[in-house]
Amino acid sequence: MRYPHSKTSQEYAPVYYSNALKWCHIVIILYFVFYIFSCVFLNRFSEARFAIPWLAAACISMYHINHTNMRWILLFYSMIIVGWMCQFIYFYGWSCGGINFIMPLMVISFFSIYDTVANKIFFTLFLFGVRVGLFYYCQVSDTHFPVSHQFSVVFQVVNTAVVFLNMAIVCLTFSENIQKAEKQLMVYNQELKKQAVTDPLTGLYNRRYLLDMIENYMRSNPSTIFSVAIGDIDLFKNVNDTYGHNCGDQVLKSLSALFREKLDGMGSLCRWGGEEFLFFLPGMNVDAASQFITDINIAIVGHAVEYKGETHHVTMTFGVEEYDFCSNLSELIKRADDKLYYGKTHGRNQVIF
Ligand code: GH3
Ligand code: MG
Ligand code: MG
Repeated sequence: MRYPHSKTSQEYAPVYYSNALKWCHIVIILYFVFYIFSCVFLNRFSEARFAIPWLAAACISMYHINHTNMRWILLFYSMIIVGWMCQFIYFYGWSCGGINFIMPLMVISFFSIYDTVANKIFFTLFLFGVRVGLFYYCQVSDTHFPVSHQFSVVFQVVNTAVVFLNMAIVCLTFSENIQKAEKQLMVYNQELKKQAVTDPLTGLYNRRYLLDMIENYMRSNPSTIFSVAIGDIDLFKNVNDTYGHNCGDQVLKSLSALFREKLDGMGSLCRWGGEEFLFFLPGMNVDAASQFITDINIAIVGHAVEYKGETHHVTMTFGVEEYDFCSNLSELIKRADDKLYYGKTHGRNQVIF
């Protein structure tokens, strides 16, 4: 069997990156075409002739964007621009705006995801050297194809427009991508936070989150009463054994929705584990809490769970415990659990307080 080839950076190239390069190529190709036609129109054939190889190189580079390693395309494109810039300044001198082409190259190279920082710095130094070299050349040499003042202004404007367009394409693409990535990260973060605190089946808080919440409450409200209640579905194993695990899941989800509705901001609850739920009732003493939980227990008896066209009813047993201002949370929950156990062994479907 043939060993699979390792992926090239082309396969990993993000779409926005190749799109940005594509648009930069399109702009520069249109620019070369415009330049060649203008030269022909103005009977400056020898200058048009010199631009044809650059146009061909840009077209070849554009063709290979989807077929070649993006790093090579970036390098090739940079060489086309640097080459063209040198030739342009050699032809028309410093004042025709050819040097502007250096700016988008710097931006593209710094946004490049394939190169190391050292390579980027090296490339910047290279561009700096080219700029200084060209400036020095223009100081000591005459232009090859002298142009009138009006022409140099037209060149300046066209070159600046092309350069601005290229810069705008690169900056827009990358800034938009960064914004998108940031938004996505925020959504993922929120989703992760939610997943970390919720039970996937019922959507209720998980045990760890509710325990943290109660402990925080105890710390910040040391002299405020509260109660906890732990509830367990009666003979739930029978539901699973008779109607299947999925039916049992449906019962858990349906009861969770009922609890949420009944709590209505009066407290919080979590799935304590299996078919057990822990209620946290801030501000309620044992009388208020047991009354509240009894109401819920009555609602459970009357609550019909629909599953595959059949209706199921379950009951629950609860143990309620009031905070005594000296126990810790696990002692408090243990006492509520003991009451639950008492209820289980003394007939089920009741609230023990
Ligand atoms: P008791 O009245 O004494 O509480 O009886 P019980 O049958 O409810 O208690 P038991 O501890 O024997 O069984 C609990 C059952 O809950 C067994 C387990 O398969 C079921 N269970 C726990 N978690 C889930 C769950 O996420 N989905 C389903 N469908 N069943 C679950
Ligand atoms: Mg049970
Ligand atoms: Mg149980």
